[in-house]
This record gives sequence, C-alpha cells and structure tokens, in this order.
Amino acid sequence: MARAYNFNAGPAAIPLEVLQQAQEQFVDYHGAGMSIMEMSHRSPLYEGVNNEAQTLMRELFGIPDNYKVLFLQGGASTQFAMLPMNLLRPGHPAAYVQTGAWADKAIKEAKLIGDTVIAASTASDSFMRMPSLSEIEVPAGASYLHLTSNETIGGTQFHEFPSTGDVPLIADMSSDILSRPIDISQFGAIYAGAQKNLGPSGVTVVIIREDLVKEGSKSIPAMFRYETHAKADSLYNTPPSFAVYMVTLVLKWIKARGGVAQMEQYNRDKTKLIYDAIDQSGGYYRGCAQPQSRSLMNITFRLGNEELEKQFIKESEQLGFVGLKGHRDVGGLRASTYNAVPLESCQALTQFMTDFQKRNG
Ligand SMILES: *Cc1c(COP(=O)(O)O)cnc(C)c1O
Repeated sequence: MARAYNFNAGPAAIPLEVLQQAQEQFVDYHGAGMSIMEMSHRSPLYEGVNNEAQTLMRELFGIPDNYKVLFLQGGASTQFAMLPMNLLRPGHPAAYVQTGAWADKAIKEAKLIGDTVIAASTASDSFMRMPSLSEIEVPAGASYLHLTSNETIGGTQFHEFPSTGDVPLIADMSSDILSRPIDISQFGAIYAGAQKNLGPSGVTVVIIREDLVKEGSKSIPAMFRYETHAKADSLYNTPPSFAVYMVTLVLKWIKARGGVAQMEQYNRDKTKLIYDAIDQSGGYYRGCAQPQSRSLMNITFRLGNEELEKQFIKESEQLGFVGLKGHRDVGGLRASTYNAVPLESCQALTQFMTDFQKRNG
C-alpha cells in the first residue's frame, strides 16, 4: 500500500502506526469480544480510555492541577458560542484579536451573546501577519481576551502570547495544539477540534481553569455549560468514544516520540525544508505570511500566476501529493505540516518544488 503525501488542512494526516494499532484493536478491544464503539461508555474499559486521554493530555501538555480537561462534541465552532455563553459577563465586553477567517467566526458568534471589542486587528495587512504583543490592547474589566494561536487558512501563528493580567486569556489552538510546549498557566482556557493535530474529527478538547468553569450561569442549557461536563468528567452524555480512543493512541504516539518539545523540533525541521525551498527559489515561490508570523503548521505560498498554480496542483496530485490547494479565501497553495505529517513527505514536496521550477521556471 502506498500512503499519500498528505498535506490536508483538516481532517488531516494521522500517524500510520496509530491507524495500524486501531486496526488491530478494531474488532475486539482488549478481549472484550466487541469494539470500543459497541461498549457502554459507563463500562470500566471505556472509563479507562477516558481517564487515559485526560492523563496523557495533562502529562504531555504540562497542564496544572487547577485546570479541567474536557472532551466535548460540536467542534471548535461550537466553542465559538459556548465560550461567550459561559464567560461573557454583562457590562464586561469580550476582547478579540482579529487575525483571519477563524478569529472572525469566533467574533461573529460572540456578538450574538454580548458585547465585544477588537483588541487588535491585522485586517489592513490582509491577515498576513499576527499582531505584535504591543499592538494588543486589553481593555480593563474585559470578560476575556480571545486569540487564535494559529490561523489555519492564512498560515500565520503567534510565537509568543500577551500577558493579560486579571483578564483570562483564551486561545483557539485547533490547528497547533501539542505542536510545541506552551505555558498553560498563561491561559484561562484553550480549545481545539481534534482533527488537525490530535486525531479524527468528532471530539473537541477544552482545557479550562477551574474558577472559570464555575462562572457559567445556571440559565445556560446543560450541554452548553462547562460545569456540566467538568462535574461528569466528560461523561455527562454519550461521548464520541471512538474519537476519544483515537486521541489516546495519538497521545501515546507523541509520548513515544519523546513528547511535545520533540514534536516542536520535528515540526521545525519539516517546515524549514519547505520555507527554505520558497525563500531560495529566487522569487519563483512567494510565501504569503510575513516571515515573523510564519506558521509551523500551515505553509501558504503562491506562484507567479494562477495558471501555474493549477499546473502545480495537477502535477503534484499525479505524484501522490494531496491537499496542496490553498483555501478558497486566500487562493494559491498551502501545505499543512501537522505533527503526524512525516519528514519524508516534506522532503518529497521540496524535491517536487525544485523539479517543478526547473521544468516551468
Ligand atoms: C479547523 C478550525 C476550526 C473549526 O473547527 P471545527 O472542529 O470544524 O468546528 C476552528 N478554528 C481553527 C483555528 C481551525 O483551524
């Protein structure tokens, strides 16, 4: 079997070892005579999976004890609404850093719930950079400050985070969670859909400081209240059990490779290959994101014209590359190099970029 060079933006590559292990356990999980999908979420075997997902997440990401780790459904998009439902207090606007398509979606949802302010925006630079920390104005008394640590579509990433004092800092880390070590204590809450860096779609991780869990008003419907899920250890209702199980396998895979710091080094090695190929092409390839904001997860770049870009995608597909077409909002090309994308795929891509330039330069 030939594995594709998978550069999909999401759902995205999952480590081959993880897929194979899941395959081995698919029909009969630990001698239960059934798959993980067929058993009660109240059974000891599934509780083991649920606990392991949480324990590994805490261990690998260095999550302090005063934070809850929740496994929810509805994707990161549901968090765009759930977060302000729980944390946006009347008279205390929620501040948002506007950095691109995903931040915009989060802002749109928060506006349905309460008052928002824009703490910084890079719209005038077509979102091709992240704001510097000094550009971010945190209003005193804000309910929270929300940012998108990695803008998956534009290909920009925060490389450091603002100090927000008493205002909780909230991050959408859907496309870079566990790709690098983070000081969790800087954050009030972090959320991420699993389908980019953690496993399959269907589960969303929320890491939230305990005092913020309690803030949610009792008038919020139960499923949308963080407290409901925190109290029930993410087993209030039927969880996406297969997706959570897959996340545990991905977390074990990260652990076996040395942990998150090792992942970051690996990601740096991978993206350096591709950014170098762009920068050393004499302008044949042009990176979209400004260099200081370049993402280690989504590399956006362009060719001289759209005709060439189409040609690039067509030829790359013939050679087994998948997912290199840029998002329709930005156009051009995008290579997503999440944790599970092997170095070999990135080497193959840079080789293809060099060959393509020779043939069409
Ligand atoms: C993919 C993505 C989302 C949306 O996630 P869903 O799980 O599809 O709702 C939100 N934010 C960012 C940064 C993303 O990359």
